[in-house]
Amino acid sequence: MTVQAQAQTPKQAAATKPVIETKDLTMIYRGRGTETIALQNANLSIRAGEFISLIGPSGCGKTTLLRLIANLIEPSSGEISVAGKTPQQARLDREYGYVFQSPVLYDWRSVVANVMLPLEIMGYSKSKRQERAVKLLKMVGLEHFHKQFPYQLSGGMQQRVSIARALAFDPKLLLMDEPFGALDEITRESMNLELLRIWQETGKTIVFVTHSIPEAVFLSSRIVVMTPRPGKIERLIAVDLSYPRGTETRESARFFELATQVREALRQGHSYDTET
Ligand code: ADP
Repeated sequence: MTVQAQAQTPKQAAATKPVIETKDLTMIYRGRGTETIALQNANLSIRAGEFISLIGPSGCGKTTLLRLIANLIEPSSGEISVAGKTPQQARLDREYGYVFQSPVLYDWRSVVANVMLPLEIMGYSKSKRQERAVKLLKMVGLEHFHKQFPYQLSGGMQQRVSIARALAFDPKLLLMDEPFGALDEITRESMNLELLRIWQETGKTIVFVTHSIPEAVFLSSRIVVMTPRPGKIERLIAVDLSYPRGTETRESARFFELATQVREALRQGHSYDTET
């Protein structure tokens, strides 16, 4: 496995404490007479302020790894720490926000009421809830849509609402499971720009699942290339593209070189492609 030097913004360089550490993390799903090794001996250390993408074909364990970090499932073996705590404690302390593949918004609640929901459940006062929701909706560029309902918004705007909601408790860590997978290419590229801006403004640590090589290269400071059967970490690739990143980044020679590196790493782990 090749671990290269990391590309970091100055803000990130100041904060290099590991936020997530896994040691020989393994997840085996057992059914009636079946066993799937979804993740095998994953060793990973993610530092504060990094933007990490998990990339690989379906079934290589990306979602499993994200769910283990979020304590939505328990590992079969190995260790994991999140913000220096057990994943369970980190979940209880609301150390992370989670953005799902589909926005999962409540259609009968307005945009602002959707963002306020987690704060409402935790008993925050109305003024505190409103103050926070207004700030977050501004951050995701939806300051003029408070009173709309989710069904009145485009897919990209709905996903912005779910990002704002995931940031309700101002967690240092944002876990995102293919949040832009269902969007068209043009919307996806503009969401990528938005997310990069939010990441740079807030200094959050982001772990982002994707199938898309250009998306991973554009967004990440480091890419975790995963391969299936069994699911494992094949390679870590540092992305040394400078900031701020924009349209010209996607057209640079270095962008294509990095995309090729990722593609080749994916191919290396895809031994079943050559099986007959
Ligand atoms: P990815 O997110 O990369 O598509 P997943 O983490 O969803 O991969 O799945 C990894 C492997 O584990 C796949 O083979 C999948 O079928 C299997 N798997 C995932 N969740 C379960 C489950 N709850 N029960 C049984 N097998 C599962």
